[in-house]
Amino acid sequence: MDDVVERVLITKAELDRQVEELGSRISRDYEGEELVIIGVLKGGFIFLADLARKISIPVDLDFISVSSYGDSSKSSGVVKIIKDVDINISGKHVLIVEDIIDTGLTLNHLVELLKTRGPLSVEICAALDKPSRRKAEVQVKYKGIEIPDEFVIGYGLDYAGKYRNIPEVCILKKEIYQK
Ligand code: 5GP
Repeated sequence: MDDVVERVLITKAELDRQVEELGSRISRDYEGEELVIIGVLKGGFIFLADLARKISIPVDLDFISVSSYGDSSKSSGVVKIIKDVDINISGKHVLIVEDIIDTGLTLNHLVELLKTRGPLSVEICAALDKPSRRKAEVQVKYKGIEIPDEFVIGYGLDYAGKYRNIPEVCILKKEIYQK
């Protein structure tokens, strides 16, 4: 996939190290509690698959699929639920697992939505963080790797639906999305 990749930004080894650390922290923090982990589709599926196997306590797993209204390359913050969670989260701790926080608008909306369903708590775990582009204030308890303002693909992240299966986080060549 050299034709679309500018360079590797985060190697698989760095991702594995980060995931291991986050998994240990989550296991410690929620020991003895009822935890529901909600993966945000589609981008969060690879990170969640890795993270779930580094969590050593029993957890309920579910998925939610959301899409931003309007231009797909820009987040409007108004999210449409394409697939909702099946689990009742009332009285349980919820951890949302997302691929990347960019503007923060999607997660902000999602947290507010899930809070209306009576959970004990709602926290966020994100594999990647692009803080320079933040538009909405979001509290991210479990933050992965901070990245610069570049459009990245791989490790679950797509460009036009493709490249989610690249094992590393890579910078997409500018000429691909600027043409
Ligand atoms: P936010 O509402 O935080 O701006 O939107 C986050 C979503 O935008 C992510 O879940 C992801 O789907 C998408 N996104 C943000 N930055 C990137 C990026 O660099 N690469 C890709 N492939 N998607 C991104």
